[in-house]
Amino acid sequence: QVPFTEVLDLVRGRKVFLSRGFAYVPKDDMISILITHYRAHLSQQLAMTSRALPQLEEDNRLLPMLSGLSKRYLGQDYSSKKSNVGKITAEMIDSLSKQSFPPCMQNLHQSMKRDHHLKHGGRMQYGLFLKGIGLSLEEALRFWRTEFTKAMDGDKFDKQYSYNIRHNYGKEGKRADYTPYSCNKIIMSNAPGPGDNHGCPFRHTDADLLAQKLRLQGISKDFTDKIMKYTRDGHYQIACKYYFDATHSGVEEPDVNINHPNQYFDESQHFYSGKKEAKLPNTPARTGSQRSSQNTPRSQLSQNSQPTSQNTTVDDDMMDDDLCMAAMETA
Ligand code: SF4
Repeated sequence: QVPFTEVLDLVRGRKVFLSRGFAYVPKDDMISILITHYRAHLSQQLAMTSRALPQLEEDNRLLPMLSGLSKRYLGQDYSSKKSNVGKITAEMIDSLSKQSFPPCMQNLHQSMKRDHHLKHGGRMQYGLFLKGIGLSLEEALRFWRTEFTKAMDGDKFDKQYSYNIRHNYGKEGKRADYTPYSCNKIIMSNAPGPGDNHGCPFRHTDADLLAQKLRLQGISKDFTDKIMKYTRDGHYQIACKYYFDATHSGVEEPDVNINHPNQYFDESQHFYSGKKEAKLPNTPARTGSQRSSQNTPRSQLSQNSQPTSQNTTVDDDMMDDDLCMAAMETA
């Protein structure tokens, strides 16, 4: 029983019994009372904040924090999946990428296998994601070394690239425990340039090319239409959620929203473990057939229409990790 003014929407819809100025709200409609209180509280606080704004603007400690608030990721940090550390090996990454990686990470994995190299933005995005799924530092070094040394000698890898990997794990520089990038960060910052492979395919791929790639992957017309609609409307994470649904047939949680690539991975693993399939694949030796299977439809959502070449490797080598890390730390 509440004053009828607290549930005007229910009164308007003739959904409540009214008597002597009170509305008798059924249990199922209690949300309406909550919404009214929340709305009143919010508008009161907004009014107070707007009065305080002139003072806040004078405080240069608060303003950057406030202006960045809407872009902040407040979910789980996924800095490393402790339960998986030691269970994920370098050899498992290839099969995991086909089964459970979101499109952005599939794209980075395929680009690395194709070029035996990734530029700095890609190494950061992919390296931290792998750390987040539970790849230990030793396995990460082995994983990157195996692939990069197909196109360069081991000495060059050790000098120019292993520092970056150890840095991601907090073993170099200021020894910070870097966290994997959220969708928001991937979508909103550091857009990929020519020859880059990082970013979000839904945000950074030409729409026609993306639609073509979805069709090539065997995604149904219904799902392709939905994904493309949300992509065009700028709702990239919703598009990704529909991509998840399309590639995990029979998914039972229609309301799962994707806000982090590592969350996508966890949801996918959860889905497969629920289906009583192996939660983590066995550790097969990488074979020629596995490598050629990069070209299977499931793994064709590559975001960059510009083919990378040896030239991009040369460009990137000029921007080696020591320089990048030093710049980041100085900043
Ligand atoms: S929405 Fe997030 S998880 Fe999905 S592809 Fe984009 S960045 Fe990756």
